[in-house]
Amino acid sequence: MLHFARKNTFRHGVHPPENKDDTAHLPIRQFPFAPVLIVPLSQHLGKPARPVVREGQEVIRGETIAEADGFVSVAMHAPASGMVRRITLAPSIAGHMIPSVFIEPFPASTQEVDDGEPCPLDTATPDEIVQAIQRAGIVGLGGAAFPTHVKLKPPEGKQLDTLFINGVECEPYLTTDHRVMLEQTDDIFMGIRYLLKATGTREVIIAIEANKPDAADRLRQGCPGDLPVTVRVSPVKYPQGAEKMVFSALLGREVPSGGLPADINAICCNVATTAEIGRLLPRGRGIQERVITIGGPGVAKRGNYRIPIGTPVRFALEACGAADNISRVFMGGPMMGPSVSNLDIPITKGTSGIIAFTTAETGEATGHRKVYPCIHCARCVEACPIFLNPSQLGLLAKVEEYERMAEEYHLMDCFECGACSYVCPSHIPLVQYFRLAKKMVRKLSAA
Ligand code: SF4
Ligand code: SF4
Repeated sequence: MLHFARKNTFRHGVHPPENKDDTAHLPIRQFPFAPVLIVPLSQHLGKPARPVVREGQEVIRGETIAEADGFVSVAMHAPASGMVRRITLAPSIAGHMIPSVFIEPFPASTQEVDDGEPCPLDTATPDEIVQAIQRAGIVGLGGAAFPTHVKLKPPEGKQLDTLFINGVECEPYLTTDHRVMLEQTDDIFMGIRYLLKATGTREVIIAIEANKPDAADRLRQGCPGDLPVTVRVSPVKYPQGAEKMVFSALLGREVPSGGLPADINAICCNVATTAEIGRLLPRGRGIQERVITIGGPGVAKRGNYRIPIGTPVRFALEACGAADNISRVFMGGPMMGPSVSNLDIPITKGTSGIIAFTTAETGEATGHRKVYPCIHCARCVEACPIFLNPSQLGLLAKVEEYERMAEEYHLMDCFECGACSYVCPSHIPLVQYFRLAKKMVRKLSAA
């Protein structure tokens, strides 16, 4: 049944222009292979994968090229049939170099992928499903890139009762989850069957924002009668898609500070991740491509593309008709996505979009984005969905009082949504300050 949530939404938040009309109606298209694909061995939180190929070796599309190294790690698969040219360091979105497998696709490499050993839904145990998800290299495709199989094993003593499938996609410009919900409906329900069995949850809530009524209708109509699924629609507001906001809005439960979703007996899985589980496990395949939105005013051929993992951002932009005056490119949406400083970095499993802006939008040509001092207007305080004080945190960040930020002002609860930066009339890059401050706190506590 389709209905609005009891509580509908969370408190605070912002309403940036959605800018989804350019691509929301465009079906997913297959992207061509770049001349070289760069597959980082660390595309997820946790330990990097361990390569099982060597330089000069031929690989076929979909073949495992690196295995998980421990529990919090996942496998990597060849995005194209070709030759492993090098295994060496490559630049990453995080700014540092990461060991990566460079594959040169054969000119005749096709988009076909052979099936491997399937994970049969009917006979597989919950542990076998968890292992199959790890082998398939599945991580959160919404952007977090947390290994999905780890989420499915809650800490000892925690019971899960509700499975959320997150199709909110509240980031401006991004329409990948929207298209996946329209085009991979059956995969989503198959993925839900695997997740129900692996977690033992009994209730499923698919969360969608009100700007995707066609997706909500499609899922409601396509839902098999034996699945305990409810489609819940929330009003459009940013960051409605953040896991904590989904729980708060649709379940009325708050994840405690420093806690996990398992503390409120819930688990949340992105809708595209769920679709990949449903698509890959019955065929015994791994992730070697993903759906992304390539958009923004800086590209001509905007759209939703199924693109090989490892495609360099530069190749993706050039293939989509990049403008000459691009000044800023985001991996993911412009609110939470990091800004790209090197176009030679590759698309990874966590990349939900490439959004490009020209000097006309960013104002960099006119100096319009100059940063001014805080005027204590409190707009950032009213925007923060978890009731932090970004203004005070910003002032402390400037004087490098990182420990005080964490201890007195709950810095580590900040999930870097960027709502505070978005509303700041002084253009103070608050979220950038908080990212750096969190890194410093982690460093200090590890010392
Ligand atoms: S970035 Fe952090 S401090 Fe700013 S609004 Fe989001 S959660 Fe609050
Ligand atoms: S929105 Fe900007 S100017 Fe206003 S209080 Fe927050 S940091 Fe200061």
